[in-house]
Amino acid sequence: MSKTEAEKRAIALERAKELRQKIEPYLEAQKEIETGFKLADKFAARKEKVKEIFGATEEQWNDWHWQVANRITDVDTLSKVINLSEEEKAAIERVGATYRWAISPYYASLMDEDSPRCPIRMQAVPSKYEIDDPYGIADPMAEEYTSPAPRITRRYADRLIINVTNQCAMFCRHCQRRRNIGEVDLPAKKEEIQAALDYIRENPEIRDVLITGGDPLTLSDETIDWILSELDAIEHVEIK
Ligand code: SF4
Repeated sequence: MSKTEAEKRAIALERAKELRQKIEPYLEAQKEIETGFKLADKFAARKEKVKEIFGATEEQWNDWHWQVANRITDVDTLSKVINLSEEEKAAIERVGATYRWAISPYYASLMDEDSPRCPIRMQAVPSKYEIDDPYGIADPMAEEYTSPAPRITRRYADRLIINVTNQCAMFCRHCQRRRNIGEVDLPAKKEEIQAALDYIRENPEIRDVLITGGDPLTLSDETIDWILSELDAIEHVEIK
């Protein structure tokens, strides 16, 4: 027998109550979570501190080439920016022997000096769990089986990605492509990108192309312009 409107409403209200209960721990914790707006003054002070450590001018600080050239890659320098326990230092050395790490001064200036649970710090600073992990696999998205042409990953019917470089300014600890990213800083060869563009040209169902890597903005302006112009000239590509 079908339910009355009142019965349906009662079920919905019960479900809403369950949802509210599920999210309660987060709502409680949220009160303690500081947003970027609240932290603006702290960020400004940390920026000055990190600038002083590096002897950087404001102009250098705002130049991404300077940021990449001055990435933090050793525990001693990192220790000047954030407070690290002996255990954390040992973990960074141990993980760093297997997985490369690098943190731009700008990114370092966003990290909480004292809290190892700071989300930005967790994103950037190596953790022992990267090594002490029995479950992680090198290719969690099985991308090696979804690349019909060089530099392309195609998982969906009408969209795909072109991986144009394996270079990033900072190496995220959670990176799903760490098997490709950061071991060496290499942009894709022009002929590989050309082959990827040819594949897109030959497959008119592709309407959405994501240019990614690594960080495509580490490529030269000329190369980015060339890739975008080539995609522009492909009529069936509507979004890029
Ligand atoms: S590819 Fe993305 S997730 Fe991986 S290190 Fe670069 S920016 Fe981080």
